Amino acid sequence: MGLTIDLGALVANWKALADRAPGARPGAVVKADAYGLGAAQVAPALHAAGARDFFVAQASEGRAIRPLLAPDARIFVLSGHMPGQDLTGLIPVLNSPEQFFRDRALRPRAPFAIQLDTGMNRLGFEPAEWASIRSEALGARTDGGTGPALVMSHLMCADEPGHPANAAQLRAFREMTEGVSAPRSLAATGGILLGDDYHFDVTRPGIGLYGADPFQEARPVVTLALEVIQTRSVAAGEAVGYGCTWTAPRPSRIATVSAGYADGLPRALSGKGLVLWAGDRGAPVVGRVSMDLITVDVTDLPDVPDRLEILNARQGVDDLARLAGTIGYEILTSLGSRYPRDYRPA
Ligand SMILES: *Cc1c(COP(=O)(O)O)cnc(C)c1O
Repeated sequence: MGLTIDLGALVANWKALADRAPGARPGAVVKADAYGLGAAQVAPALHAAGARDFFVAQASEGRAIRPLLAPDARIFVLSGHMPGQDLTGLIPVLNSPEQFFRDRALRPRAPFAIQLDTGMNRLGFEPAEWASIRSEALGARTDGGTGPALVMSHLMCADEPGHPANAAQLRAFREMTEGVSAPRSLAATGGILLGDDYHFDVTRPGIGLYGADPFQEARPVVTLALEVIQTRSVAAGEAVGYGCTWTAPRPSRIATVSAGYADGLPRALSGKGLVLWAGDRGAPVVGRVSMDLITVDVTDLPDVPDRLEILNARQGVDDLARLAGTIGYEILTSLGSRYPRDYRPA
């Protein structure tokens, strides 16, 4: 019952993405608690498989996993160096001249990385800003050597291989990093799948590790089984759930399972034909998804199960995302904290 996270499948996905970029050192993005799956379990499993470069969004996320990883693991903080932050043992990815000067003043010998903006306009140095600090940054002496540990940028349309922004960002990244001897990084999951030109020295896969689009060959990592709390008979013409949005067209058996939108199963899944699974048999969700409960028409199942699966090899996070009008990233990072969690070892 609850959420089962298959660390073996996760490691297999990491290796498969590493194989797609054989010239690069494969990193792993474990921000947002490893996309909701648990950075404390995911990061050590990937380290054991050989990953050494980890990426988190915030310093607090980095501090949480630092004691769990050997000193050879590098933990990059994508938000960079914000005032008052403790970055001990972490590598801030500096995004602006302001962050660069703050960081060099406060941690003069500590390793740092640089993010360049190649068109996304979200984080990173603009070309003119980079030009103004480039030689100082590349020549900075740190305990890890000379210059940044990594110079990186991020693609905004990598999940659309034909989008012209990909080639434009690649060109901008090449221009801005010409003559830079520090390791370079441009590709997340989507960029890895775009091909060799995008791989550079270090890759930063996130979503593909966790089994979702755009890495369509990924092995599913998450299974979510929901407990059936109660089953009842409903006469034809009776309504089920808030708003009376579903009325039984025939005498029906309705099972009520223990999870709802408070557990990250979007209310927008109501009335979308979502199916829950008992083995290889599907049973349709009927009525609204409420805060803690979902109602399922199990009339056609041979017997009443004690659990129904909402995420499994048949129905993945992207299927749920499509029905709810969102993306797999949001489904994963919304998975609630009330589920019992079971980690299958790698
Ligand atoms: C989230 C993120 C990634 C990982 O992206 P995926 O699409 O999940 O592979 C890589 N780099 C940066 C800068 C990110 O913000």
